[in-house]
Amino acid sequence: MIGPAARQLSHTSTTTSATVRYLPSGDNTVLRDALYEAWGRRCHVCLRPKAFQEIQIDHLIAHTTAAADLQRLKQQHGLPDDFDLHAPANLAPACGDCNGQKGIHVLGPGLLDIRLRKAATRESEVSAAVQSFATTHAVGRSLRVLRTLDLSDPAARAAFEQHAPAVVQELALLDESKADYLVTRSLDLIRSVNVDLSYADLAVDLILDARGRTSAAIIEEIGGCPLATALGPAVDGLAVQVRSHARAGLEAPDVEVVCFIAPVVDGVALSVAHLNCIDLRLTIETVNVERDGATLCANFGGRFRCGFRGSVVRSTLSGHSEEWNGEVGTAGQLRINCGWDLTAGLGSPQTLTIEITGWDHFKALVWAARPKLLSTHKNWNG
Ligand SMILES: [Zn+2]
Repeated sequence: MIGPAARQLSHTSTTTSATVRYLPSGDNTVLRDALYEAWGRRCHVCLRPKAFQEIQIDHLIAHTTAAADLQRLKQQHGLPDDFDLHAPANLAPACGDCNGQKGIHVLGPGLLDIRLRKAATRESEVSAAVQSFATTHAVGRSLRVLRTLDLSDPAARAAFEQHAPAVVQELALLDESKADYLVTRSLDLIRSVNVDLSYADLAVDLILDARGRTSAAIIEEIGGCPLATALGPAVDGLAVQVRSHARAGLEAPDVEVVCFIAPVVDGVALSVAHLNCIDLRLTIETVNVERDGATLCANFGGRFRCGFRGSVVRSTLSGHSEEWNGEVGTAGQLRINCGWDLTAGLGSPQTLTIEITGWDHFKALVWAARPKLLSTHKNWNG
């Protein structure tokens, strides 16, 4: 069972300066697992929590990139000449869906830049995890192999089902808090408010530990409110808040905005004509409920990622309006508070607040691929 992983080890240990690389025709299970852990057990494209079996290794810059394009990308992203496309600094975990259609999901050069930086900061962690595999105690190696098992194989699944409960039991006997597990639920939102945001792609996931599962059950049973109903208006509210942040960012370009056109000409600045939310991902990581007399309060904590695309317009003093492309990719953390008055009957929460508690990144781009001359202002009355 340790066969394939051991093969990878013998391969990496021959280069004693400990170079960890993707092996194009080899077994990369240990590397895949190290990337999976280092990137928070998520797909780096859709950011959704994924099971290990769903994860593939994605080359941020495709290893098939033509030499001229590669040279340009290295310059654009400040990469060294000897940048190794098979090294962890160019690798990230992606789910099968996203890896197959990455082009549809990426927001543009801004997002690639963010991912390359992230990969660079995680390279040493990933390398260390792969290398430590060789020196881990046999128990650690066996458990790692167990975790990366292909459970679609009926024999593997039968063996796993037979022996895994005993392992969990041993763990709980050591300390009962150690046997907790996380459950991921995806919500199908029934969105109650139309706020003129066209989501091309909307996903809401909950990652629930024991406390989260209990809290979710209380909201649904005592509050009488499905989580999708509680969180639907919150998602709309989040999109509105992030959009106004994105709009302000584009209209007042600063260091966070890459402008391929001059942001201000003749004293006239850019203004956003429209900005559509093209994707919104929300992951709720904590759920807590409190009951105070007839009031039930729920607090959701988590993180979001939003992408917007739209057009940016500038009216020049010569009387023309020019339209440019603009896009924003941003992510952050938030808290959502919902309140139910239990005497008022069950259903949607009566109070809702959404608080963005921090921004992980904000990247905006304005570019001039095909500037469109919109109109010439004429004074029709004159
Ligand atoms: Zn994905």
